[in-house]
Amino acid sequence: MAKDWAIHDETRPMAKVVEPGPASATPAAAPSDAVVLFDGKDLSKWRSDKDGSPAKWKVADGYMEVVAGTGGIHTEQGFGDAQVHVEWMAPNPPVGKGGQDRGNSGVFLMGKYEVQVLDTYGTTNKTYADGQASALYGQYPPLVNPARPPGQWQTYDIVFRAPRFDAGGKVLSPARVTVLFNGVLVQDARELSGPTAHQARPPYAAHADKLPLGLQDHSHPVRFRNIWVRELPPEEPTLPRS
Ligand code: MG
Repeated sequence: MAKDWAIHDETRPMAKVVEPGPASATPAAAPSDAVVLFDGKDLSKWRSDKDGSPAKWKVADGYMEVVAGTGGIHTEQGFGDAQVHVEWMAPNPPVGKGGQDRGNSGVFLMGKYEVQVLDTYGTTNKTYADGQASALYGQYPPLVNPARPPGQWQTYDIVFRAPRFDAGGKVLSPARVTVLFNGVLVQDARELSGPTAHQARPPYAAHADKLPLGLQDHSHPVRFRNIWVRELPPEEPTLPRS
């Protein structure tokens, strides 16, 4: 399906807008078996992509905020199959010229597979469909667009299945991603063609079973809060059809 559309095809329709429920003033509590990666207090679980030193983003009032130029950040801990919860907020008033230059960041599963973060509230920001908020960047636009306005908290609930490789590096099964955006299903077990990239769809390259979760510095002061991960056991074989 993704192959039918050229990457960043401007004629690919953007997702239809739907109204999600109102934002929650306070973050929901993490489940008891979650690995809490950011609870609003400090970045002790995060490192700078630049040199592995402590993450240099701003922390204030229960959120972290991208500090332009300090680089992306990633968790010290690696994850493979996982349920990932992230809350984010685009800057208000918006900064940038629009398109990809407006509230851009990203959630990088295994540091390689981006769930796009962008201010694409309503129809106020035209960009290529595979680059709008909750797109699997460069591959799949969301099914619908339930984005909230800039300045409001939004949620991503992601179910990620890591790709599997054989000993020779051949892909046994691709990465698979399900995303609920503000509680609305936007990616339904999508199989990625490989790592996400700008103006490219590179093939898979075999990698470790667990790798850090990353957040992107795209020069915009996007905020994050309440980030947690539940590690998932490998999938059970499916039952035979009767
Ligand atoms: Mg991005």
